[in-house]
Formats: sequence, C-alpha cells, structure tokens
Amino acid sequence: AYLDRIATEDGALGAYLHVDAEAALATAGAVDAARAEGRELGPLAGVPLALKDVVVTEGVPTTSGSKILEGWRPPYDATLAAKLKTAGTVLLGKTNMDEFAMGSSTENSAYRVTRNPWDHDRIPGGSSGGSSAAVAGGLAPWSIGTDTGGSIRQPAALTGLVGHKPTYGSVSRYGLIAFSSSLDQAGPMTRTVLDAALLHEAIAGHDTYDSTSIDCPIPVLAEAARRGAGGELAGLKVGVVRELGGEGHTEGYEQGVLDRFREAVALLESMGAEVREVSCPAFDLALPAYYLIAPSEASSNLARFDGVRYGLRVGDDGSRDLDEVMALTREQGFGAEVKRRIILGSYALSAGYYDAYYGQAQKVRTLIGRDFTAAFSTDDGLGLDVLVSPTTPTVAFPIGSRVDDPIAMYAADLCTLPASLAGVPAISVPCGLSEGLPVGFQIMAPALADDRCYRVAAALE
Ligand code: GLN
Repeated sequence: AYLDRIATEDGALGAYLHVDAEAALATAGAVDAARAEGRELGPLAGVPLALKDVVVTEGVPTTSGSKILEGWRPPYDATLAAKLKTAGTVLLGKTNMDEFAMGSSTENSAYRVTRNPWDHDRIPGGSSGGSSAAVAGGLAPWSIGTDTGGSIRQPAALTGLVGHKPTYGSVSRYGLIAFSSSLDQAGPMTRTVLDAALLHEAIAGHDTYDSTSIDCPIPVLAEAARRGAGGELAGLKVGVVRELGGEGHTEGYEQGVLDRFREAVALLESMGAEVREVSCPAFDLALPAYYLIAPSEASSNLARFDGVRYGLRVGDDGSRDLDEVMALTREQGFGAEVKRRIILGSYALSAGYYDAYYGQAQKVRTLIGRDFTAAFSTDDGLGLDVLVSPTTPTVAFPIGSRVDDPIAMYAADLCTLPASLAGVPAISVPCGLSEGLPVGFQIMAPALADDRCYRVAAALE
C-alpha cells in the first residue's frame, strides 16, 4: 500500500530520493515466508520504513543529498540500519534532505524540492524534510531522521509529527555521513509518541564502532509513553524557558505559535504538573555558537570528499594533476550552502582566529550546559524534571522565502539548538494548528532521561 502511494503521490511531494519497490516487496515476502514457517521474527517484522539518505545502506544508493556522492552504493550498513534490518523492518527507500544535513527547509538538496503535505507551497522543514514529508503524506508509516541542530524536531514540528533527538551518544553514529560529529544524532520521526518510542528502542544501544557511544542499557521508552498517555503528571516539575519565546524574548516568534504553546503548558498544569518560568541566559547565544561549531566540524569532516574515494570525480582525463581534479570535483560536487560552511569553518579554525571564534563558541557551549544543569540538578539546581519551549518560532514558511537569506534560514533553529549543544534529549510533539499549519511543542530532559520526553509528550498527545 505504501509503495502504491509513493507511486501516485511522490511525483508531487518529492519526499524520496531512491525507492526500490522490488527489493521492498522481496523483503516483505521473505518476512511472510518466515512467518508461515513459524520461524522467530524480529519485533518489527514486516513494518515498512523510510531512512534519511544520510544513513549508509549496503548496496543501496546513499547521497546525503549531495551531487558529490551521486551513484555511490555503500559496501556496508550503518549500525542503525543493520539493527532495523535485524528487527525485520522493510526499507521503502531513502528520503530527501538538505545537502549533508545543512539546512532547515530541504531546499539545499542537490536533487529535488520536497513539499509540505499540509500545503504544497511550503517547506516540510529540514534537514530531514524528506522523512517528515514521507510520513506526514502517508508515504511511510514512520522514518528515521538525524538531528545536529534541530533537523528531526523542526521538520517534525512543521509537518505535525512526533520527532525525538536522543541523548547524544545513545544511538550509534557509525555509518551516518558525518556533518558535525559532536552534535549528530539519529532518531525517530513518527505519527505517534508510542511509535517514536518503539522505533527509538530498536536503534539505540552501545556500539564499539562509535567512540562516543554510551555504554548503558537500552532505555525503556515505550513503557514511558504508555504511562504518559494516562495524562497523570502529578508532581512533575516543568520549567518554561524564558529565553525561548517568553517575556522579552518573543522577537521572531509568531503569535499563533506562542498561543498554542501556552495552551499546551496550561494543559500540563491541568494534569498536575508544577509549572514555573526559568531563565537560561546562555541560550541567547546558542545560535552564533552553533553556527561556528557545526561549520568548523563540517569543514574537517567534508575533507574526505576528494573525488578519489567516493562518488563524483570531475576532469580525470589524464590532462590534469590530482589537485586540479580534486578542486574541479569539489567545485561541481558541493552546493552553495556546503561551500559557505566549509569556508566559515576553515576560517573559524585557522591560526590567529581560533581563540576568537571557535574557542569562544566552545565556552558558550559550556555555559549552555551549565544552564541545563542549574535547571535540572536536584543538588544545587532547581530540580526540574523537564524544560519546555515551542519547537520552532514559526509555522512552515513558503518555499523560496528564505533561500537567499542564510541568517533568516538559521533562525528556524532558535529553539532546538540549546539541547543539541548540551547533548540532552529533546522531543517535538504536535500541539495544535496556527493558520491551518502544525505547531510543535518541545520537551527537553537531562542526559539519558529520554523516557521523560516520551512520558510528557504522550500526555499532550
Ligand atoms: N538547520 C541546522 C543547520 O543547518 C541544523 C541542521 C541539522 O540538524 N542537521 O545546520
């Protein structure tokens, strides 16, 4: 049924970069056969799934939305892809994304425009916009996205889905094409909170192939989602972050978004939560800090795309030396935003500027972590269980409206960046509509307390 929908709808929607109906049917057939024989099946046996094209999949084209990887078929599976295979899922295809996950609208894809199923003239968010459009449009029951500064939560919010960025280190990054290694995390994008919890449990866990992977038990999330669905939040301590849409900090926020957010906070209160406002002063600096740290790491990570090891190679006809082939390949293979980030990052890391830019940004990152600790710590902090904010300052914006203004595009990440920089988990759950378009509610929790995100999100659902 999903393959049929892809065949009829994806021409207009543009959610997928690659669909292999034959392979999907073969996998589904194999699951059916195993079931008929009474063989033991994985917990998600036969459930279709879409993967963001940043996830490396054995033998299946993987581009990360870039021309420089056109035609590349990886020789191995990302750890999360392997886990999903073992669980029995059926891969429908790979979804569109901003090139190397750099963007907030999916308009930076080198391949196609993806439309928001709620309004085809608007963006589906980004960088996991193919994943959000696929699920919101009914072209996949659920999907995997990645989030470096908001790329799961923001597209989920703008298409009316649930999207969770796990605690940094709790889902393996092995086989995710690296953007900013100290920030990148993969996570679920789904229609319901329980679905997100089930998909998250399937991909989480320690992995020796990822040096930043945390060695701890796989969290119990589905149970938290089921418990939260009862709507009983007595004693839960909720902090509303003033710097993210509160008094004196509403510039750039749409009134409709703030209204839906405040209604959801009132709902939490009516379910027994104790709500108070908190100030996290360093959050005001998250945007400039992120846009130094992420491009710095990207400029280093993208050095591997040299026209030799992967995908595209331009001008290798015997008349040019290696440097010229490399330069031509990169000039044609990378899009404008990727080049902008490489230039920004190389500059910020260069001798003489390092302390002024990258060093400063790292200090801000530490301060943001301290703001979270001050809010969450039961020893010398406020002892709050979760912090909440709108997921995005606005609803989905029109296609083309921000492409020529990188700063306006970056502003879409205002609310999602603090949790990214601190490595703490955060979920976006729908909280109503503004002018007919979905609004997202963000719940942030201490590291490894992802279950709290699910519990509170389920209560709001
Ligand atoms: N929009 C942000 C950026 O462009 C975040 C992207 C992401 O989370 N991958 O960097």
